[in-house]
Amino acid sequence: MPTVGVLALQGAFREHLAALRRVGARTVEIRRRKHMEGIDALVIPGGESTTIGKLLAEGDMLDPLKTRLQSGMPVYGSCAGLILLCKTIEGSDQPRLGVLDATVRRNAFGRQVNSFEAKLAVPEIGTAPFHAVFIRAPVITEVGAGVRILAEIDGRAVAVRENNILATSFHPELTPDLRLHRYFTGMCGACAKQALDRERANV
Ligand code: GLN
Repeated sequence: MPTVGVLALQGAFREHLAALRRVGARTVEIRRRKHMEGIDALVIPGGESTTIGKLLAEGDMLDPLKTRLQSGMPVYGSCAGLILLCKTIEGSDQPRLGVLDATVRRNAFGRQVNSFEAKLAVPEIGTAPFHAVFIRAPVITEVGAGVRILAEIDGRAVAVRENNILATSFHPELTPDLRLHRYFTGMCGACAKQALDRERANV
């Protein structure tokens, strides 16, 4: 099982730690650059993307994390985490990791609908709908050719995957359904195997 670092600067990181432990992963809280040394994968929780981005920049963590994600380390971002992963954030130049080939609109469901819950079809993780909790949630408005849309609400993308990158607008860590966390740890195993195969091919 992988060692998953959960970015613990701000937001709903404790719930991700608990869900990851429940699916059998080892977990590490990432608060400073040195904490990321032994991790195989990263989770970026929901919270406030401007705050998390600012703290990442202040802690000199943006560039080293970006390098590791670009070299294939699996990452899962929920809500603010999704925003930080996107290359383009509509109307904002806030600090970000910018590794996911997608455009995101923050707070896309408007002030009237701050939070809501929905039964979402996510065929990638099974046939039963996923009970998804949205809190001041973003939507993805454009995706690059390599990005797969895993779930939509009213034709708007709310879960996507691009190679080693998984991102959702909603918060699976706030419900007992562990399928997305299990899917992510499965992704970690597959990415690790690919890296090993690449290494072997280069020898
Ligand atoms: N609206 C927040 C942002 O823009 C995200 C909300 C969340 O993570 N629940 O960062």
